[in-house]
Amino acid sequence: MKVTVLSGGVGGARFTRGLLSLLGERAHVTVVANTGDDLWLHGVRVCPDLDTLMYTLGGAVHEEQGWGRRDETRRTSDDLAAYGLGWEWFTLGDLDLATHLARTELLRTGLPLSQVTARLAERWAPRVTLLPMTDDEVETHVVTADGQEIHFEEWWVRHRATLPAARFVQTNLATAAPAPGVLAALTEADVVVVPPSNPVVSVGTILAIPGVRDALRTSSAPVVGVSPVIGGAPVRGMADACLTAIGVETSAVAVARHYGRRPDGVLDAWLVDERDADAADALRSEGWIAGAAPTLMTDVPTTARIAADALALVGALP
Ligand code: GDP
Ligand code: CA
Repeated sequence: MKVTVLSGGVGGARFTRGLLSLLGERAHVTVVANTGDDLWLHGVRVCPDLDTLMYTLGGAVHEEQGWGRRDETRRTSDDLAAYGLGWEWFTLGDLDLATHLARTELLRTGLPLSQVTARLAERWAPRVTLLPMTDDEVETHVVTADGQEIHFEEWWVRHRATLPAARFVQTNLATAAPAPGVLAALTEADVVVVPPSNPVVSVGTILAIPGVRDALRTSSAPVVGVSPVIGGAPVRGMADACLTAIGVETSAVAVARHYGRRPDGVLDAWLVDERDADAADALRSEGWIAGAAPTLMTDVPTTARIAADALALVGALP
């Protein structure tokens, strides 16, 4: 059985870990990761979502934080600060920095990001095929209400998503192409899962890569999503700021309608939290396949059950 997941960072990585625990050897999982958050910081290429996936699935993630390495230290960034240099608003731990240096070195030899990612993932054995959405440098920028354009990570990390955002734009989008294997992972899958990732700047960015949305719309695989919104709030973090910026209400039903039902939209089915059972009822009355169940990813066994409930909605539970 072939399962493909369209993932951002923490939400997608945790979901995928549960999915792997559920499926074991019965399936091959491909993860198409958002790379719109990637940035060059003082000469090194940082790929936040790819790294969160790699560390989470490789057993090295800082569990409480959800991203970065366990047992991390900050000696390098502290020492850079002593020169009055470095990354003022973006934390780069020492161990994490090794990943960025390794990635940058491989990119400088001319390898595309997809091959670099495969090479880095060899060490972490994430038990999935990990694909960046594109090998091109597509970056999500935020156009603020006063007309400035800044990198998404600067808006998110430095400004804690408090600067009013007018819209999100992706650089180089028109000329970007899906990375090798991405379209096939969507069209040749037995089931595609949209995990509880940020619908705007994680999954939305992947869908914006030319060809991806159409591949999903027309794939013969069923597509099931899990709501990243529980009880009118993003469970962790500030994803409501992204939804608000694009005029979508922060509710399980509004996010489903934003993705839309195939063939015009990208989903067939939507799993909401048990607290949002009325959202599932409303969607069913509009013709959706919808279910309600606990969706808080508190630990791996609980997350495996969420994955099972999602797959069961589209009859894809092996
Ligand atoms: P990021 O790139 O690290 O922001 O991670 P993602 O895009 O993968 O997902 C972040 C989103 O996942 C958050 O904004 C939440 O809406 C959602 N999320 C996080 N934890 C949970 C959880 O336990 N359950 C559900 N249903 N959603 C979650
Ligand atoms: Ca992210």
